[in-house]
Amino acid sequence: MSARFKPPGQCPACGEWVRRGAAACDDCGACEKSGWSGNTDADGLDLPDDEFDYADFVAREFGGKSSKQALTSNVWWWVALVLLIVLVGAALLPVFR
Ligand SMILES: [Zn+2]
Repeated sequence: MSARFKPPGQCPACGEWVRRGAAACDDCGACEKSGWSGNTDADGLDLPDDEFDYADFVAREFGGKSSKQALTSNVWWWVALVLLIVLVGAALLPVFR
């Protein structure tokens, strides 16, 4: 990725002059959010911004799994935990009687 670019200056993506204070290149549409890469669809920055996509973030955090699959495995963890509590409770019940 190109070094942090700040207008005014030449657009790192297309070389057009970007005027002072401009949020994006008039010519190719590169902007701060795209990292001035010229690819306005790509979110090159790791920092959360106004358009932070939480579902996409979760999907990436769970190693490419969809967020629904991640949720399902999470539910099974809870089922296992509840079963464990019930078993331990049943084992300890005679002690307290
Ligand atoms: Zn440009």
